[in-house]
Amino acid sequence: MERIYLDANATTPVLPQVLDAMRPYWEEKFGNPSSAHHAGQRARAAIEQARASIARLLNCSPKEIIFTSGGTESDNLALNGVLKPFLDKRQPAHLLTTEIEHHAILYTAQALRSRGANVTLLAPNREGVIEPEAFRAALRPDTELVSIMAANNETGAVQPIGKLARIAKAYNPAILFHSDAVQAAAKLPLDLSGALKNVDLLSISGHKMYAPQGTGILFIRSGTYLAPLLYGGPQERQLRAGTENVPGIVALGRAAELAQDWLSAYRDRELAALRDRLETGLLAAIPGSSVNGPVGDADRRSPNTTNLRFEGVDAEALLIALDMQGIAASFGAACQSGATEPSHVLLAMGLSAQQARSSLRLSLSRLTTSEEIDRALKIIPAAVARLRSLAP
Ligand code: PLP
Repeated sequence: MERIYLDANATTPVLPQVLDAMRPYWEEKFGNPSSAHHAGQRARAAIEQARASIARLLNCSPKEIIFTSGGTESDNLALNGVLKPFLDKRQPAHLLTTEIEHHAILYTAQALRSRGANVTLLAPNREGVIEPEAFRAALRPDTELVSIMAANNETGAVQPIGKLARIAKAYNPAILFHSDAVQAAAKLPLDLSGALKNVDLLSISGHKMYAPQGTGILFIRSGTYLAPLLYGGPQERQLRAGTENVPGIVALGRAAELAQDWLSAYRDRELAALRDRLETGLLAAIPGSSVNGPVGDADRRSPNTTNLRFEGVDAEALLIALDMQGIAASFGAACQSGATEPSHVLLAMGLSAQQARSSLRLSLSRLTTSEEIDRALKIIPAAVARLRSLAP
């Protein structure tokens, strides 16, 4: 059975070009970038080349990029790094974030709250988008940090972070604006000198952009002070102690170059067209089905994601049925698989627990083919019909 992978928001495959780029840094080009000898300096140069490639993708300075172990660490470093100095001095500090964030943000915010931070979780509208007016109304004189994701991992809903960051700075220029861009990077253009010039901190994960798991980036705008999470060596401007993951960093750099080529060739539009074909095909073939998230204008959703609700169907049972037929999909976030808790994102959008439990996320990768979509359009409606026929 040829398997169809429709779970790219959980993780993407490592592209062959990325693997080729990183392999020598495990083999003949090994070396500790802190060593003064040739092998060390070769590794150092490879890191700086990768940093420059990422800076080109994000239109920022290489000095503003640090490497981490992934999206979770970048999110933790951003939130803790900004708020720790306030909490240490017992100064009031308000963190404004949203109900639709990934747990890497939500649970960090919870931990900060237990240490004295004031935290507000903003609700989205029914499409899963944070409204600028509601955002403006939630800013407070003691707001020190805002954290709003660039695109949601479950629905693909693109958040207007450029606009929200502008509103925050107009309210108080000292507010720092962080965005978890894990699900936006390499899918949507992110211009930190243009539309996102008011964003101060931005998290990216390697394994959502065709680089390996356990690699990540935090963009830190020049002049932004952060307290480190890890103490030890002086790596990454003393913000991320520990010998660098050289092969992983090289992979991130190569993945960024490939992403830039891909976006420049408007391949995101092709991917969105494939996603749209899957979505409209399923909506037409399955009665009682609807989309969770923004519909209509293509720019309001990441190009690879659809989240569909099938009335009266248990998505967990559907996932199992699809897996047996060779389709990998997801409901809620991947880290919740196996748990029966309905998705906090869908609940925040106003869905009932039952509606959330009837929802399936399909996320395409750059490697998804038109032929795979044709097959998915046969398998998924048949699986839904069968589950419905068995339901009491
Ligand atoms: N933020 C978002 C929006 C995500 O989708 C994920 C992963 O699913 C993360 C953060 C965590 O990233 P990582 O797996 O690299 O720690």
